[in-house]
Amino acid sequence: MFKIKRGTFALLATALVVTCYSCQNFSTKVFGNNQRDNDSTTIDEEYVAVKKPLLLDKWDSLARNQIHFTVDTVTKIDVKTQKKQLKDSLKRAFNELPKHVFLTFDDGPLVGSNVIDSLAKAKNIKVSVFLVGRHANMSKGRKNDLAHYKNNPLISCYNHSYSHAYNKFTHFYSDPKTAFADFEKNENDLGLEHKIVRLPGRNIWIYDDVRKIDLQSGSSTADLLFANGYKMFGWDVEWRINSLTGVPVQSFNEVFGRMKSFLNNKTTVTPNNVVLLMHDDMFQTKKGAQLLATLIDSLKAQDYKFEFMQDYPIKY
Ligand SMILES: [Zn+2]
Repeated sequence: MFKIKRGTFALLATALVVTCYSCQNFSTKVFGNNQRDNDSTTIDEEYVAVKKPLLLDKWDSLARNQIHFTVDTVTKIDVKTQKKQLKDSLKRAFNELPKHVFLTFDDGPLVGSNVIDSLAKAKNIKVSVFLVGRHANMSKGRKNDLAHYKNNPLISCYNHSYSHAYNKFTHFYSDPKTAFADFEKNENDLGLEHKIVRLPGRNIWIYDDVRKIDLQSGSSTADLLFANGYKMFGWDVEWRINSLTGVPVQSFNEVFGRMKSFLNNKTTVTPNNVVLLMHDDMFQTKKGAQLLATLIDSLKAQDYKFEFMQDYPIKY
């Protein structure tokens, strides 16, 4: 099993740079807070060294101070080529490292939650659930589902609001203070330990220095939550299955293929970390449960690591 230690990434990147550019003169550190200026004085404007391509901005937080890029200032490679070289180098370096999947299930407890609970144990994988307190209070069965979730060490419970906005999202987010109180109520009622939220009806990410908003309605509530110590996570890939028939809206191959290609192409919010959104009620039929088991087995076969959202993103 390939084990990664902090610093390995830097070594890999360094080795890669040495391999690629060993016969060239380089002096610019692209990443990191202590960026120093290029001390070469012989470059033309047209061939100015790439300091930090926009393309790579989003990778910076993952690998801050760990990846040292050097650029050719002698043989006059144009900026476009330099950017491509940097991008390709990073991709190769990331591909040498473990990849992480976050299976997330929204709206539970619902019929179907027991399948998720059982599969997490049977397959020995970490699973993240974003819970709705109103659903937990609907029946004894749902209360039992909640108890099973909370007693399962392979399941980590997070906040998806108490009311789920009664599915009237724009109205819900038009009053950020009331919306905030709804999340607080959910946290207290369910005894949630982590200040981690997924906003109902919105794919919004706010954590550390990342802020990604899909719809402006929701952003004020999200900012209020963040100001009060909450992190918010959306998703990279979504899988929908008809809850009554168990027939997937996106085929298994489509979802599995997207997860793999997003990881390989580094198009997830954080490279090498992919967040999949599903919903508890998708797995109430035998067909749905089988699809979930197949997905887990297929991800395992790729040697992807299963993680909790509280550990997102996995850094090197
Ligand atoms: Zn939801």
